[in-house]
Amino acid sequence: MSVYLSKSQYCSAVQCPKMLWLRKKRPELFDDSVMDEHILATGNSVGDLAMGLFGPFTEVPHGDLSGMIEATRRLIDAGETNIAEASFSYQGLFCSVDILRNLGNGSVEIYEVKSSTSIRDIYYHDVAYQNYVLTMLGFQVEKVCLVHINSEYVRGKELDIHQLFITEDLTECARSMSAEVGKTIAFLGSYLSADEEPAQELGEQCFTPYDCGFWGHCSEHLPSPNIFTVSGMQLKKKVEHYRKGLVSFPELDRAGNLNAKQAQQIEHEIRGLPPELDKKMISLFLGELEYPLYFLDFESFQPAVPLYENSRPYEQIVFQYSLHYIEAEGAPLKHTEYLAWPGEDPRRKLAEQLCKDIPMGVTTLAYNMSFEKGRIKALAQLYPDLAEHLMNIYDSMLDLMQPFQKRWFYCRDMQGSYSIKYVLPALFPGDPELDYHNLEGVHNGAEASAVFEAMADMPQEQLLEYREHLLKYCGLDTLAMVKVWEKLGEVADPL
Ligand code: SF4
Repeated sequence: MSVYLSKSQYCSAVQCPKMLWLRKKRPELFDDSVMDEHILATGNSVGDLAMGLFGPFTEVPHGDLSGMIEATRRLIDAGETNIAEASFSYQGLFCSVDILRNLGNGSVEIYEVKSSTSIRDIYYHDVAYQNYVLTMLGFQVEKVCLVHINSEYVRGKELDIHQLFITEDLTECARSMSAEVGKTIAFLGSYLSADEEPAQELGEQCFTPYDCGFWGHCSEHLPSPNIFTVSGMQLKKKVEHYRKGLVSFPELDRAGNLNAKQAQQIEHEIRGLPPELDKKMISLFLGELEYPLYFLDFESFQPAVPLYENSRPYEQIVFQYSLHYIEAEGAPLKHTEYLAWPGEDPRRKLAEQLCKDIPMGVTTLAYNMSFEKGRIKALAQLYPDLAEHLMNIYDSMLDLMQPFQKRWFYCRDMQGSYSIKYVLPALFPGDPELDYHNLEGVHNGAEASAVFEAMADMPQEQLLEYREHLLKYCGLDTLAMVKVWEKLGEVADPL
């Protein structure tokens, strides 16, 4: 039975055949919130950059499949050496090769480009499928390679794409998987012809290598909450419990065998316990905080292709911070902030401003401070003249997350998490001032990163509008920290 497949459909079937069945027969059930537009855009721009790896090239224009296949055929016949997006079809199996090296006389090399920094298992299937299609079409495939980003690359003044990319030869592997590809395609031929929705047990494949957009549909029979909403448990363990029939919280509670934090989440949920407070530990924690107090939050973005000299692929580049501060007990809350302009390296000016805004020797609070500390340390390494001041901020930083991470303060609405996104609404339910949903344009860190990157291409008016959105978002992050600190003060034992 013939089957019509693209490369990405083949790879989704490798992850879970039912995913492909649903994609073809019930596409309306797909939850496209699993699609990260930013990651897709990164993949496209990395792919575009890699096209020049072998010198001049011709790209097959995007269009209908038959037009792309025909254009590829003409380029090969004309002896074009480097063809980007070279497209082929064999008995309904379609694939586009990121870079095809045409060696002449039917001999070719396949280069698949990925924006990741390492090889994932699914990539072997990806290149094996391409090798299969081209081999079945009669090409002599001399080489099958994966091109991915070199995480060790440090950019100089100019970008060097030959240093940025690593090429891994997967020829042997792709060839050895040919029979497997053939079998999978034959299996899919009959599997996809079924009209009735196939049975498929939930498992690790629902989340790895990619989150499946049909999870909502396939898991609709599960009670809420369930084993998959237990916080701090490895996916493998969750699947083990699920397969043993331990799905609902009462079932998990009866079976036991949970760690203390998991048991606490489940007990609070099913018994409606009052908030748990270790007032003494909270008091000791607050006692460490001396005025003046600074509340700091960074926003960063991670360009796959390093934009600035002395930066690496996917390095976290801080472009913004918000800083609330209180100079003395009873003094008013003050605020300052920094937001870089797109198009320039934000690190030096931000580091300088941070040193002006946070004096040496004061206590700075961050929520989940490993992130802020990591960025400050990187800035200190980059700018030795600012290192003493930056490392002083680093050394005197404390983590506002600690009381929640250590469960000195826990309540049911935290749902087993100590992330600020759970802690804040749990402590201030229904408070519109602290509700990120009420913000415009930017509601979370991922959106902040994407907006900052996009600002480089925005017209002035839109850019100014999004600057305001970013400032409000980051400002709310540190205001939230102040409120959390105040709440801790309300519930703690007096010292
Ligand atoms: S949710 Fe899981 S079982 Fe359902 S289609 Fe996706 S991967 Fe397959």
